[in-house]
Amino acid sequence: MDQFAQNYVDRFMADLTAKNPGEKEFHQAVKEVLESVAPYIVEHPYLMDLKIMERIAEPERIIIFRVPWLDDEGEVQVNRGYRVQCSSAIGPYKGGIRFHPSVNLSIMKFLAFEQTFKNSLTTLPMGAAKGGSDFNPKGKSDNEVMRFCQSFMTELQRHIGPDTDVPAGDIGVGGREIGYMFGQYKRLRDEFTGVLTGKGITWGGSPLRPEATGYGTCYFASAMLATKGDSYEGKEVVISGSGNVAQYAAQKALQLGAKVMTMSDSNGFIYDPDGIDEEKLAYIMELKNIFRGRIREYADKYSGAQYFPNERPWKIKCDIAMPCATQNELNEEEAKTLVANGCICVAEGANMPCTPEAIEVFQKARLLYSPGKASNAGGVATSGLEMTQNSIRLKWTREEVDQNLKRIMTDIHEACLKYGTEEDGYVNYVKGANIAGFIKVAEAMMAHGLV
Ligand code: NDP
Repeated sequence: MDQFAQNYVDRFMADLTAKNPGEKEFHQAVKEVLESVAPYIVEHPYLMDLKIMERIAEPERIIIFRVPWLDDEGEVQVNRGYRVQCSSAIGPYKGGIRFHPSVNLSIMKFLAFEQTFKNSLTTLPMGAAKGGSDFNPKGKSDNEVMRFCQSFMTELQRHIGPDTDVPAGDIGVGGREIGYMFGQYKRLRDEFTGVLTGKGITWGGSPLRPEATGYGTCYFASAMLATKGDSYEGKEVVISGSGNVAQYAAQKALQLGAKVMTMSDSNGFIYDPDGIDEEKLAYIMELKNIFRGRIREYADKYSGAQYFPNERPWKIKCDIAMPCATQNELNEEEAKTLVANGCICVAEGANMPCTPEAIEVFQKARLLYSPGKASNAGGVATSGLEMTQNSIRLKWTREEVDQNLKRIMTDIHEACLKYGTEEDGYVNYVKGANIAGFIKVAEAMMAHGLV
């Protein structure tokens, strides 16, 4: 980056941090995008004059609200709800809802900001938002989760709608939570519409939506590997997380001929040197989705496997690493270990799981590395396909959705190649994804005038 562009980044970040103090995840996400797009922006000075990036980094609207609910003991509980509506430049706001005790304004803003570029990359007409609450669904009864979801939606419903803002799931929000929120929306508004995605298949959901983020991440990684004439076949894969994204990333990796070695949760990881096959994965899905158990129970059931409490899986030797749990879960040291162990590809299933220092290690080592906003975009893309099916009141087959998903992931990969290929041929997927995502949003903003 030349000095002029660097000065622009420095000035921008100084203003942003002063205006949004303490929001470290938000600062991190903005800086990453800015460093990629600054050279493009300074080459197109009208983007600077119109303050396009400054406007994207200021959410269009932030809603923060009280969520009171009664627990099973009859005691009053109070949580905080959020919806950050970042950009409606290219379509209705769209993005997941996260229920996790760590949720705060910084995390909501970082996720909504990232979503802007991700949704733009999908080629579908979707703006960007993110929402959630510091509510922890872990250890709560179904009735408690239902009461919480109803209270959360009682406020949120004022701010969303099928042509306004269409939330989906994220950490801690799966089919159960979407069902309770949809039920409450329908009851309050007396409307059966596509206001949420990730719905059940019998009431407006799309085939393959649960699988889409994990599958899409593998499709994207396959496209990266193909640039080297390589594939998943015979590769050893290390995956973090054991939730929605991790489960289906593991399933697709297996289908593509890889050996999956690890999965994790927030308490530790399991390593199975024999590989987590289809049958073992089915056990994990049942354990996590139905019994809401912990990943350590895997090592009790399969004696060949080891459980590492309070550790992350990146020390396990592998060819492909897929961080699929949460933000900042893979740091510089762990990145160095992966590189030293011969890893050739890192495909992010989660949002911002690698720290900036880790990304630098991967890029310096010339690894195939994809940021989540490119490789995990299959989830929101399939949410977009769910919206389309709801609008035309039809349901496509699993095969049709899968074909669309593959096409979208290939298109995103192509866009990254177009804007991210460097002089020596190395593909900087971060740069490619950020610039491609930015251009489309910027063009729409210019067309709409100063709004
Ligand atoms: P789930 O809630 O289904 O699973 C999350 C997994 O990550 C669980 O195994 C959880 O463990 C683990 N985890 C959560 N927080 C932490 C933490 N602080 N440290 C270590 N492990 C943690 O969520 P998803 O699979 O839906 O989401 C995973 C990631 O993918 C997130 O970054 C999300 O934003 C991103 N994403 C999700 C999409 C989707 O379609 N669902 C779309 C695009 C991105 P535990 O059970 O202990 O909480």
